[in-house]
Amino acid sequence: MINFTAELVAIASENPPGAAYGECVRAIQSRLRALDLPCDTIKYRPRAGVRDQSGAAAVLSRVGKGRRALYFSGHYDVVPVTTPGQCNPVLRGNMLFGRGSADMKGGLASMLYAAVALKRLHVPLNGHVALVFVPDEETGGQRGSGFLAAAGRLGANGIGMLTPEPTSGVVWNANRGALTVRVTVHGREAHVGLLHQGRNAFEDAIHVAAGLQRLARRVARRRTRFRIMPEAARRSLMLIGGRVEAGSNFNVVPGRCVFTVDRRMNPEEDYEEERRALFEVFDKARQAGVKLDVEVLQEGHPSGTPEATALGRALSSHVREVTGRTPKFELCPGLLEIRFYAGHGIPAYAYGPGLLSISHGPKEFVDTDRIVECAMIYARVAATVLGTQ
Ligand SMILES: [Zn+2]
Repeated sequence: MINFTAELVAIASENPPGAAYGECVRAIQSRLRALDLPCDTIKYRPRAGVRDQSGAAAVLSRVGKGRRALYFSGHYDVVPVTTPGQCNPVLRGNMLFGRGSADMKGGLASMLYAAVALKRLHVPLNGHVALVFVPDEETGGQRGSGFLAAAGRLGANGIGMLTPEPTSGVVWNANRGALTVRVTVHGREAHVGLLHQGRNAFEDAIHVAAGLQRLARRVARRRTRFRIMPEAARRSLMLIGGRVEAGSNFNVVPGRCVFTVDRRMNPEEDYEEERRALFEVFDKARQAGVKLDVEVLQEGHPSGTPEATALGRALSSHVREVTGRTPKFELCPGLLEIRFYAGHGIPAYAYGPGLLSISHGPKEFVDTDRIVECAMIYARVAATVLGTQ
């Protein structure tokens, strides 16, 4: 498991832009073959007119024969390195350092070897464990789980889904949705002395922002029922102006103002309804004479699975048996690929060997003992929920 994790960490599958995907795919394929597991590769095909040279592909495998599927799904892309040499894995004691070690190449080793254990021990299964290795999670999953979903290749006959994201010992049973847009307000440039000839894009942007603030105050009154700490974090969120750009100098009327809006909705909120509410603000501004374009940068649906499903209970009890501690269930503050499965009514949870606090950071590492523990937990959960009794 450590060897496989290190092998993957050494492949700089940074996303953005989506590098070395082909190399990751080949490493996973050859590991599956060496372990005598089947291997099915689904190449990403962009929509007509779009070119993609990334080599993005999902690699699928399985253990067990029956129709019912318990999905173990993980992503092989990583966020870009922040320190030189971060893609050279370094093992110190039982700490394996390197980009992606925690998020989530160590987790990929856990889920793969959990399936291997089930196979080698001839654990009787009423169904099968479906292994899914996808790219592109770090930028919304378009070339990974999103593509599988659009192609009708995601979650067939699913009775549950687990993903080994770095959850720091808790279980994430819900995630916020995300709708991120970039707004470009168009004005007309003019020298300050000829102010009457210009149209101030910044002032028009203020008009738009005021409408957004009214919406932001409205959504902030909503609180999720899923667990997240502290209490203030339960609010539905909207960040206005995470990035703002306007104008060229103090003495020129700005001809363009660009700003971002990042809407993060709670699992209880309806994605389409929230999307409409946001776009209504832009439509109203247009009706008031503001010239603007809106570009969607990111879209992801919110999702939530109750704690007390058969899979949720099995996960909780095996985490306790293996680690000695009953895990808390919490809402993940970011996007999670559980949404692709939960959206089909499949109970879906994240639990993995890594720590959230160091993932994406300069000193990312994973405790190799936790990789092994996580594999044990995944194997036991599969034996329970796909048990023949
Ligand atoms: Zn991740």
